[in-house]
Amino acid sequence: MSKSYLKIGSYTPETKDAEADIDREYYRQGWVVKDEEAFLLHPDRVCYVPELSDTAYTREDFMGLCNEQEKFAAECFYAVDWQHPETWIDEQYKYDEWGRCERCQQIYDVGGEPCPCPICGTPPEGDEGEQDGDTKGRGCSAESGGI
Ligand SMILES: [Zn+2]
Repeated sequence: MSKSYLKIGSYTPETKDAEADIDREYYRQGWVVKDEEAFLLHPDRVCYVPELSDTAYTREDFMGLCNEQEKFAAECFYAVDWQHPETWIDEQYKYDEWGRCERCQQIYDVGGEPCPCPICGTPPEGDEGEQDGDTKGRGCSAESGGI
């Protein structure tokens, strides 16, 4: 095994004699605990603790926040460096990095411009175009540039 895992600080689970011990280290923007090995290999182990609270997150927590979609859970895990994962995820929706399909409930990559769900084709929330037929190919598709 030559792979070395990212490990920032450490988290020692509580025992019957002691509370959980959170030993943060500075990482990119803040003081956190981040344990890649726990995230990748031990779903029930704490892999992240943000700077401003002692809320401890496991891979299962990240997966739950990301609709059990591993790609997004991993993106979130690697991106957070001080904030709560919930906050980071909210920003992905706010800035149209991610979309959440109302119909099939899947998260999908957006990349800055709201676009229909690539899985079932449903337009994003707030797109009031209810007419039939003219919604195909809008949004993400490069061909709508009109060049
Ligand atoms: Zn969909």
